Amino acid sequence: MKVYLDNSATTALDKEVLNAMLPYFTETFGNPSSLHAYGRNALKAVDEARDSIAKSIGAKSNEIYFTSGGSESDNWALKGVIGATKAKCKHIITSQIEHPAIMDTLDYLKAKEGVEVTYLPVDKDGRVSVQDLKEAVTDDTVLVSVMFANNEMGAVQPIAEIGAFCKEEGIIFHTDAVQAMDSQAIDVNALNIDLLSMSAHKFHGPKGIGALYIRSGVKLDRLISGGHQERRMRAGTTDTPLIVGMAKALEIAVRDREENNKRISALRDSFVKKVLAEIPFTYLNGGMDHRLPNNANISFEYVEGESILITLDLAGIAVSSGSACSSGSLEPSHVILALGVKEELAHSSIRFSLGKDTTQEEMDYTFDVLKASVERLRSMSPLFNMEKGIGYYV
Ligand SMILES: *Cc1c(COP(=O)(O)O)cnc(C)c1O
Repeated sequence: MKVYLDNSATTALDKEVLNAMLPYFTETFGNPSSLHAYGRNALKAVDEARDSIAKSIGAKSNEIYFTSGGSESDNWALKGVIGATKAKCKHIITSQIEHPAIMDTLDYLKAKEGVEVTYLPVDKDGRVSVQDLKEAVTDDTVLVSVMFANNEMGAVQPIAEIGAFCKEEGIIFHTDAVQAMDSQAIDVNALNIDLLSMSAHKFHGPKGIGALYIRSGVKLDRLISGGHQERRMRAGTTDTPLIVGMAKALEIAVRDREENNKRISALRDSFVKKVLAEIPFTYLNGGMDHRLPNNANISFEYVEGESILITLDLAGIAVSSGSACSSGSLEPSHVILALGVKEELAHSSIRFSLGKDTTQEEMDYTFDVLKASVERLRSMSPLFNMEKGIGYYV
């Protein structure tokens, strides 16, 4: 059996999305900036896609700017605001659990632009406190960037409260909503969001396309110079098929949102309950309230997350681990550590991210393989045996 439980890393392209895209690779291949019929036909599709995406977050069409994905949107939001501000001292408030696309960009801005950054802590459920945010604001605060929902443990942040506070203070509010687009109802006006990052491949759209919502009136420098595309704000020939695919994927996600959320969260809830009850020394990272419906992040004490990942992979099951030894880093996840989880437990964390195609049968199979793997790995772990009084030397 093959089970894909890594939907927070990327999702499969929906067949309906692929079919919507196909004509724009071949027949309707014109450059949307061209004045002739080839161009006009492509432009029509791009305009419709932009309208549809804007509508799904309560924005105006001219507030949607297409990018190459979530990372570019995050880079643009942060660098764009800092580039456009006239303030001498620039202070950004963010959280300790942001995606690397935010964290690395902030490191860059600190080094190159002398920007000051405050990283808000999170509670054991993985949420920032609006009180901490209020206390962190200074006269120099030009931007607050807090993600909508976390990609590792799924905590959904108090976006409405943060937005209301930023509006009151006149501070620009950016949110990385890459993980939230499919499951959360988002209205940028109700939530007072000024800038919002999204990425199509996280909701069954194609890879390499995303968007940044920019509230009209918010000043941003461009990230990519060149032609006049995207209202002169983001140069590069418009990618009609990917844009059409992104809009289609979001339409489907919004259409099926409630049904998917209900079904997926029920599968997730029973899986988590069973794991915590039937596999000893396991801990859920993050709380159950305010959590993305598809996310389960669990630590398996005395076992390396990577070892579990590899064992599950051999059985056809795809998950993610918190510490990425394979990527050359032995550091445990900064997100899991921010929850106050101790380092060994952070090293033993596994993220299961379900998707709209996940079935009960797949979750049952995953549980069985997981239970056996953890037992076997623990039986080989000297630390586990020592602590449980099963000595090697007796
Ligand atoms: C995947 C992800 C990104 C990066 O998006 P890409 O389109 O892959 O560049 C950014 N932020 C979050 C929260 C993500 O999950």
